[in-house]
Amino acid sequence: MEPIIQIKNVTKTFIGKDNQVEALKGISLDINKGDIYGIIGMSGAGKSTLVRCLNYLEKPTTGTVVVEDQDLSTLTEAELRKVRTGIAMIFQHFNLLMQRSVLDNVCFPMEIVGVKKQAARKRAMELLEIVGLKEKADAYPSQLSGGQKQRVAIARALANTPKILLCDEATSALDPTTTKEILKLLQDINKQYGITIVIITHEMAFAKDISHRVIFMEGGVIVEEGTPDELFSSENARVREFIGKVSA
Ligand code: ADP
Repeated sequence: MEPIIQIKNVTKTFIGKDNQVEALKGISLDINKGDIYGIIGMSGAGKSTLVRCLNYLEKPTTGTVVVEDQDLSTLTEAELRKVRTGIAMIFQHFNLLMQRSVLDNVCFPMEIVGVKKQAARKRAMELLEIVGLKEKADAYPSQLSGGQKQRVAIARALANTPKILLCDEATSALDPTTTKEILKLLQDINKQYGITIVIITHEMAFAKDISHRVIFMEGGVIVEEGTPDELFSSENARVREFIGKVSA
């Protein structure tokens, strides 16, 4: 398996006024191309910080993140912006532009990289079709349900044909049925386009269903990483306790 992201000895310390938090304490991990990685763990484990280090929204304190053979620490801001067009991200609260229509939201990242308006609109319509929202192209985000908003965010994330999609609690604001639908959509996108997906999730059953590999984090370290079957039959007491707790 070919790694698309290589994380080596990454630490991240947040320094506050009168305290410091070691959010990541030495993470090393290869993320294979085309796989879905589910990251699980209690709140505060460092999941979000780790995911944000993968596109340098957070810069690691020490260690390296290599994406497709490029060490992100060696890049200029301009080079980093270019790499980031290949690493899309979706969020818990969707982060849509409320003053823009659905179509214009999806066009937005293409505008930024200079795609011509007509070409952008054509691609945006194709993407809306993929996420099942073509008929909502002229609607505004406030007129959509949570699940529909996340579909728009997914269409927008795919606009510049990323190789990697990072999902930070992308389903945490959604009900179980909608969560299932969104995870199914992400799975379809992974299958169809071979996009590598890293997804932080609290939905253990779904993490198990859609992930090729699962990472359990606690206290800023990876306690265990493996296939869903390996994780869910782990002998590690911490993993067992976590899985028992959340599936109880
Ligand atoms: P998770 O995603 O697993 O809930 P996070 O990565 O959000 O965990 O947070 C890990 C730790 O780092 C927590 O103790 C959190 O309070 C701290 N932290 C995260 N971001 C910041 C920040 N910008 N400044 C200070 N502390 C932070």
